[in-house]
Amino acid sequence: MAALARQRCLHHGSREAVARCLDCRQFFCRECITEHDERVVCASCLKKVAQAAAKSARRRVNLWPVLQTASGLLLTVVFFYLVGSALLALPDSFHDGSLWEQPFVDSSDSE
Ligand SMILES: [Zn+2]
Ligand SMILES: [Zn+2]
Repeated sequence: MAALARQRCLHHGSREAVARCLDCRQFFCRECITEHDERVVCASCLKKVAQAAAKSARRRVNLWPVLQTASGLLLTVVFFYLVGSALLALPDSFHDGSLWEQPFVDSSDSE
């Protein structure tokens, strides 16, 4: 920590360093250092942070409709799968219509 007083700015060799960048660990003068999100960073690191933030924000915006479409598709697939398995689970008597005749079996039990 005491070394800070003897450090010089990375960009300005004649100027005394006032702070150390938390990202690249280099020393900088008052002019070269800046604060971002309550963290002390140099100008070049700030640019990197800003670019990364812009890129992730853009990606987030692009991802949302894709996610919605995918989840909608998945919901459709699951829905039709459940309907299909429900139809398959039905007894054969349902398909040949004999299921509906059963309530009337009592009245025509002669066979
Ligand atoms: Zn830096
Ligand atoms: Zn400087």
